[in-house]
Amino acid sequence: MIKLKKRGFLIVISAPSGAGKGTIVNKLLQNEHKRYLSVSTTTREMRSNDIPGVTYNFVKEEEFKKKIAEGYFLEYTNYAGNYYGTPKKDIEEKLADGYDVILEIEVEGALNIKKMFEDAICIFILPPSFKELVMRLKKRGTDTQEKIKKRVNKAYEEIKEINNYDYVVINDEVSQAVLLIEDILKAEKWRVKRIEDITLDKKEDIEILINEDN
Ligand code: 5GP
Repeated sequence: MIKLKKRGFLIVISAPSGAGKGTIVNKLLQNEHKRYLSVSTTTREMRSNDIPGVTYNFVKEEEFKKKIAEGYFLEYTNYAGNYYGTPKKDIEEKLADGYDVILEIEVEGALNIKKMFEDAICIFILPPSFKELVMRLKKRGTDTQEKIKKRVNKAYEEIKEINNYDYVVINDEVSQAVLLIEDILKAEKWRVKRIEDITLDKKEDIEILINEDN
């Protein structure tokens, strides 16, 4: 029997807030157990829907800076006045274990990851329209008008970086967007460059088979 041992890879997912990235990522995790979502460290204030250690690891700025100095992060950024960073250790361990690791990070982080891991797949998720984005943010009801304005302006800026990504997915309907991402991941998984090791049938056994009389 021919067996292929394939390396895990990094899946970077970015999206303007309100594009539905969180829901999509949760579905991707449910679909395949050999996927791991990296938990970032941040200095931002906890929100009511945050779970420490699950959505983020929350630290004070001083501690974050100490971690930077210790080389704890694979990449980090300052986004809207708060620090966010991807821990190195977690990711290296999981990739070595054959897991595909999902990073939910913004555009600058995605670019840095792409420079470090040329095998990483970067996916940008878009809402069907900016009108829909505003409707979703209003419906969510967690932001003031001023904040919604900021988020939308940020989205216009982030979309300018789309050329650094490998794939774009429009999230009109979540289940369709997830199916499309699964197709992308399936094709990526079978790239020859991701094969770590090939085990073939033993040549002696095959020769015996060839020499056997019918
Ligand atoms: P939020 O505060 O809304 O949870 O996240 C703000 C932005 O920071 C989002 O675009 C999110 O994807 C991004 N982000 C979260 N963790 C990291 C990280 O570790 N590194 C980078 N570069 N961005 C991150």
